[in-house]
Amino acid sequence: MNDASFAARGSSADEPPQLHIEVDHTRCAGNGMCLDLAPGVFAHNHWRQSEVVDPEGDTLEDVLEAAGNCPTCAITVTDALTGEVLFP
Ligand code: SF4
Repeated sequence: MNDASFAARGSSADEPPQLHIEVDHTRCAGNGMCLDLAPGVFAHNHWRQSEVVDPEGDTLEDVLEAAGNCPTCAITVTDALTGEVLFP
């Protein structure tokens, strides 16, 4: 399996949207940038590739910053309820 994905639960006006975050392991180079920017969401696995450990572990802003700074464009973020692609 090349993708790691988890769907967030719970959403309201006071909470970030339910997120579906994927890391494409055919792209992830394991440099850890996303772990630095959203350490509550991403962690390294045994192969030093990023895994989503808690899609609600950081703010949406932090998740989007992490996705936007991934040098290999390995991270995809969508609204789990609407299917809207939030990144890229
Ligand atoms: S920033 Fe991108 S390449 Fe680096 S560990 Fe995260 S997903 Fe992998």
